[in-house]
Amino acid sequence: MIFAGNWKLNLSPKKSYAFIQELLTKLSKEQQKNCFFFPQNLSLPASIEAASGSELQLGSQNIYFERTGAFTGENSLEALEDLGASLCLIGHSERRSLFAETDSILNKKMLACKGTKIRPMLCIGESLEQRKNAETNQTLKKQLDCALEGVLEEQAFHIAYEPIWAIGTGEVASPEMAEDAHQFIRSYLAQRYSKEKSQNTAILYGGSVKPENASELAQKDNIDGFLIGGASLKVDSFIEIISNSL
Ligand code: PEP
Repeated sequence: MIFAGNWKLNLSPKKSYAFIQELLTKLSKEQQKNCFFFPQNLSLPASIEAASGSELQLGSQNIYFERTGAFTGENSLEALEDLGASLCLIGHSERRSLFAETDSILNKKMLACKGTKIRPMLCIGESLEQRKNAETNQTLKKQLDCALEGVLEEQAFHIAYEPIWAIGTGEVASPEMAEDAHQFIRSYLAQRYSKEKSQNTAILYGGSVKPENASELAQKDNIDGFLIGGASLKVDSFIEIISNSL
């Protein structure tokens, strides 16, 4: 199981540093290996410094598809690599809805990670309306088709299934609902690439994961970890999610 914290626009550099220092006193090296954090970019250097010597992996919540150039305000893969980050989120639903990121932009971002030290975690998920209209699988397929266009089997990536209606709402997908979607994504990867690729790609669930609901979700065969927003902001709840899931 992978436990990934998306801190969104929370935790300043000082707070991020303190969080990671405290967390490291409470996790074994073995547990650290499976913990990822996505701080806001201004907190990334402090987070990486606090994590130095540990097994934690750090990444950005967003990157731009050009490495350098006249793109004011964007985040470069070159700088991320320089800092020692190893991950980035691509296509979080807040990026899609609040910052107008389209599937074709996300595809460029996926392709830009190729050959870098940054492994992308592609976020996909349906809206409430799409779920009510029984369009969940169709939506996931479209998002995957577009984002993975030209992405070859040898490029490693993670996937986070995050139903939009469950993000930050307190309303979690039932373990069966989540498992169905994860199974669909797993078969998609097997068909598009190979069985081996589908088994080697971690598929995380995200959407109101908390200590109270983590255990049931974690028992499902195709749920390989969690992408956690709100409950990743406190060391104790993050650790409780880990201990309830193992
Ligand atoms: C997220 O931001 O990716 C997320 C799943 O948030 P929350 O856990 O707060 O629903």
